[in-house]
Order: sequence, then C-alpha cells, then structure tokens
Amino acid sequence: MNMVEKRKAMVESLISEGILKKERVIKSFLETPRELFVPEKQRNCAYVDEPLSIGGGQTISAPHMVAIMSELLEPRKTDRVLEIGSGSGYQAAILSKLVKEVYTIELDPELVKFSRSNLKKAGIKNVKVFLGDGSKGLERYGPFDKIIVTCGCPEIPEALIEQLKEGGIMVIPVGSVTQILMVGRKRGNNLDLKRNVECVFVPLRH
Ligand code: SAH
Repeated sequence: MNMVEKRKAMVESLISEGILKKERVIKSFLETPRELFVPEKQRNCAYVDEPLSIGGGQTISAPHMVAIMSELLEPRKTDRVLEIGSGSGYQAAILSKLVKEVYTIELDPELVKFSRSNLKKAGIKNVKVFLGDGSKGLERYGPFDKIIVTCGCPEIPEALIEQLKEGGIMVIPVGSVTQILMVGRKRGNNLDLKRNVECVFVPLRH
C-alpha cells in the first residue's frame, strides 16, 4: 500500500470503530499526511494506530486519540484554538483545516523547530507555534473559542480557564501517571466538566 492508501485504511478503521464521525473531521484526516509529522525513520509506521517517538522522550499521539480529541472539540470554521504541547504539529495540522487559526505552545525548543518545519512541509499557514510553558496560556492572543491540551495535567491550569471564552470548550487529560480525558464547557468563571475516556499522555512539565 502507498501512503495515500494507508491513510484511507486508517480513516476507514477509525470510522468503523465509531471514533471518527463528523464529515469535516474525516476530510481533514484524509487530507493530512501523518508521514510528514513522524521522524523519517518511522515513516512506514505513520499509519499504525499507536503513539510514536518524536525525540526528547516525547510522542506524537496515536491517531485514535487525535481523532477523539478533534471530535470533542466540536471545531467550527470561525474558531481560534489554543493547543498546549505542539510536539510533532500533527494535532495542530488536523485542526488547521477545521478552524480559523491554531495557536500552539511547546516547551521543548527542538520540538518547536520540528513542528514548525513539519507544518511548513505540509503547506499549513494558519498555525502559529510558540516556545514556552503552555500552562500559562497565551494571554496576548486570548480569549480562545477552544483549548486542547495534549500533555497530562495533574490539575487544570487556572490561566487556561481564564483564557477560554464563555461557552468555549476545553479538552484536557487530567491526572498524573494516567489520565481521564475531560471535556469542559465554560460557564461563568468555571468549567462544567464531563469525563470521557482513560488515556496516557506524557506529563506537562515546567
Ligand atoms: N500534540 C502533539 C503531541 C504532543 S506530546 C502532536 O500532535 O504531536 C506532548 C507535548 O507537550 C510534548 O511535545 C512536550 O514537550 C509538550 N509539553 C510538556 N509540557 C509542556 C508545557 N508546560 N508547555 C508546552 N508544552 C509542553
């Protein structure tokens, strides 16, 4: 199978598992070459439904996890989204086709370079990658319609709640060693939280 065929097969399988649902999200998965977001040596594994190492002890999340989170975020064309943990840039790339702009923060300078270069190769222009500690958010560019956190958080950073718009959605893995994927909707100054699946993300670092 060539890369396009492998990508189609991955998407078909995520649809049959009931994970990919919305037409727009499916289309974005079909149009985003995951092979550009994994280290060259791992290209032949790009469409295996597993996390892959991207250096510095970090991983690109498994496709099913990117799919679950992208669906839960209920992406709209007008949304400005904040992501914490750019990593490879793949999750941001998937979202870039579904929303207006993605702002993504990465703590590791090497991964800032990696994600920027991958996004460039994929011809994506509406994602901005920032170097820094994502738990502080990105006040200058907020508030955001949606916030997605792709590293495990012992607790939800206060700054992220503040930088989410009223009625906005946050998807965040909460816990230390393993996490529960939580979906929060902002009501007043609080998040109305619902539990989703159990998951394992690399931890948020400071
Ligand atoms: N979304 C990524 C996967 C990210 S893995 C993808 O699609 O490939 C989690 C990432 O969070 C790692 O790259 C890690 O370096 C980063 N990270 C950890 N703590 C962070 C922090 N405080 N601020 C920003 N990024 C952080």
